[in-house]
This record gives sequence, C-alpha cells and structure tokens, in this order.
Amino acid sequence: MSDFALSEELSELRATVRAFAREVVAPQIGEFYAREEFPYDIVRRMGEMGLFGLPFPEDVGGMGGDYFALCIAIEELASVDSSVAITLEAAVSLGAMPIHRFGTERQRRQWLPRLCSGEALGAFGLTEPGGGSDAAATRTTARRDGDEWVINGTKAFITNSGTDITEVVTVTAVTDVSAQGRKEISAIIVPSGTPGFTVSKKYSKVGWNASDTRELTFVDCRVPAENLLGEQGRGYAQFLQILDEGRIAIAALATGLSQGCVNESLRYSKERRAFGQPIGDHQAVAFKLADMETRTHLARLAYYDAATRMRAGQPFKKEAAIAKLFSSETAVTNAREATQIHGGYGFMNEFPVARMWRDSKILEIGEGTSEVQRILIAREMGV
Ligand SMILES: Cc1cc2nc3c(=O)[nH]c(=O)nc-3n(C[C@H](O)[C@H](O)[C@H](O)COP(=O)(O)OP(=O)(O)OC[C@H]3O[C@@H](n4cnc5c(N)ncnc54)[C@H](O)[C@@H]3O)c2cc1C
Repeated sequence: MSDFALSEELSELRATVRAFAREVVAPQIGEFYAREEFPYDIVRRMGEMGLFGLPFPEDVGGMGGDYFALCIAIEELASVDSSVAITLEAAVSLGAMPIHRFGTERQRRQWLPRLCSGEALGAFGLTEPGGGSDAAATRTTARRDGDEWVINGTKAFITNSGTDITEVVTVTAVTDVSAQGRKEISAIIVPSGTPGFTVSKKYSKVGWNASDTRELTFVDCRVPAENLLGEQGRGYAQFLQILDEGRIAIAALATGLSQGCVNESLRYSKERRAFGQPIGDHQAVAFKLADMETRTHLARLAYYDAATRMRAGQPFKKEAAIAKLFSSETAVTNAREATQIHGGYGFMNEFPVARMWRDSKILEIGEGTSEVQRILIAREMGV
C-alpha cells in the first residue's frame, strides 16, 4: 500500500496555492473567462510563486520538487478555476517536461530557466486536425536538408501555443518512412516566431475560456538540426511517456474541479432556502453532496496512488489511466450535480459552478479520451 500522508512541505504548498487560488484567482477569473482573455498577471504571479518550476531541478531554475508537488498545485488551482490550472499543467507537463526529460544539456540550459520562472511558456504539438487518439497517424513531416529540419504540416488544439509569452513549441513529425510503410516519428523544438511557423487566432471554446488554444501551421519551416529532441525516431515513445505522466496531472485537475463543485454546492445548500428550510436539509440534496464528496475523495486517492508510484520509480501506466478516467468522469458528474443543486442560478455564468460545468467535459477528452484510457487499462490487464 502507498503512504498517502502528505509531507509537511507538500501540505504547506497546498495551503499556499489554496490561499492564492481563493484570494487572487477567484475574485477576478470570471471576468477573464467572460472576455476569453488570457490572465497574464495571474500567470506572472504563479511564476513568482515558483509553480512553473515545481518538478524541475534547481540547476535549471526549478524548485527541486517532484511531479506530486505539481499535481497538488494543479488540484488547488482547479478547485477555483480550470483555465489557470490547465495553463500550469500544459506549460509544465507538456511544454517544459519533454525538454527536461529528453533534451540535450544545451537545450535544457537554453529553455528551462525561463520556462521554470513562468516568464516564458512552452507547448507540445501532437494532435492534428486529422486525429489525436491515433497519434501514430501523424502527417506533419520534417525533412532533413543539410543542417536543418524543414517542417510541413498542421497541429490542432495546442494549449499555450499563442500567448504573448509563448517562446517554444515541441512538435511531433514524421522524419522517415520504412520500406514497409512504417512511420518514424521524432520530436522537434520550434521557437515561436520561426519563419514558416504560423499561429492561428484562438479557437472559440465551450470551456477553459481563459486558457490559450490554437491551431499551428508549418510551411517549409526551417529549424537547426540540433533542435531535434533526443534521438531521431524516438518521438512516439517520448510522447507516450509524457502522456502517461500528464494523465496524473489531468487527474489532479479533475479532482480539483470536483472538489470545487463540492465546496460551492455545500455553501449554496446552506444559504438557499426552499419549503422553509435550507435546501441542504432536504435529504435528496444532502445525498447528492455526500455522493459528490465520496467520488472526489476516491478520485484524489487514485491520483495520489499514481503519483506515489511514479515518485517511487514503480510502474504507474495503468494507475495513471485509472486516475484520469475516474476523476474526469467524476468531474463531469459533480459539475452536473452542482449545477442541479444551484437550480436556475447554476445556469447563470456569474456562478462559478456554471464555469465548472463548461470546463468539465474536456477532461474526458484531452490527453487521451475516456475510450483511450479504457483501452490502456484493458491492455495493462492483459485483456
Ligand atoms: C481545449 C483543448 C486543448 C488541447 N490541448 C492539446 C495540446 O496542448 N497538445 C496536443 O497535442 N493536443 C491537445 N488537445 C487535443 C486532445 O488531446 C485531443 O482532442 C484528444 O486526444 C482526442 O483526439 P481527437 O480530438 O482527434 O479525437 P479523435 O481521435 O478523432 O476521437 C474521436 C472519438 O473517437 C473515439 N475513438 C478514437 N479511436 C478509438 C478507438 N480505437 N476505440 C474507441 N474509440 C475511439 C475517441 O475516444 C473519441 O470519442 C487539446 C484539445 C482540446 C479540446
């Protein structure tokens, strides 16, 4: 059994981020969300707190913590707002982590200090308009021409890719095709502003409205050969590893959103009266709250388990998929129930639960859909 007691350090981190989320994020994020605007000042303050450097070593500007610490911070942010939580999640686990894990010493020293400080954001471009689940079907190509890669293709739905402070996007591309037609996929670092690399305007989304999501186009985009991330042909294996880890972070985000639904609903059920008593005194509402709390607790245990295994160097693929699957479905259910408890006000955008309802659905889709998680779990079971 894993030991789930949080260390003093992690408990302190949780308290600090919780206070920041409630005192700084909560009062203003609704406005950014309504205007579909990226909250630069909040992100700057998250950078000053060291959140973007949490799981990275101090010699590249990190805080010397681990992935568990990152997940705790993401959960606390998401209990108040998912846009800022996904901005942190994507910047760290998709933007900076591939460079940390697979980059050369030179690439790590070039990119990580600014990514760790939050002064710059990184992104990871895997999904394409033609498909995300079947990642091996990548169509973007990178052709070697002398000492450069020439990239052509399109990436869809890329988080953090077009903010004013985005400095780098790592993309997967086909670098060779075998005689049997098997694609060799590699990951390549593309600095923002490279000629031939165009960032589209933001998508109009159902949720995560204060987070940045764009389509990226590459037309004869040239980067130096040394921008290859790790070994040529290892891109597929690299992003599978990154996505395994990322699932724990998304599970933490989903747990936070689920907890936020509990917090808002509990408060409302004590204030709102119907038939002469607080609605929470009606057993049907109390039972909803009990079920929401129960699911959230189990979701948290699931991601703590996966994160604890990862920290201990044990296999965690199945546990990460279980945590992601269960917590994202919990988030959707809790958001629906929270809206129900709020009645008509739950359908009004000024109430945080309306934002949580809109933000919940993507959790069953991003970084591997629920169907993909079930495929992974069944495969790990030897089905
Ligand atoms: C807001 C947002 C942010 C995102 N950020 C990023 C990012 O930063 N970087 C990035 O690379 N991507 C990002 N994505 C993309 C996301 O990871 C993909 O949308 C997701 O992986 C699903 O891919 P798809 O949309 O192409 O759906 P598809 O792969 O087309 O799937 C469509 C449906 O078919 C189902 N399906 C597919 N294959 C199977 C199968 N074998 N068995 C059963 N069912 C199957 C899926 O589960 C899904 O229900 C983001 C997406 C959104 C919406």
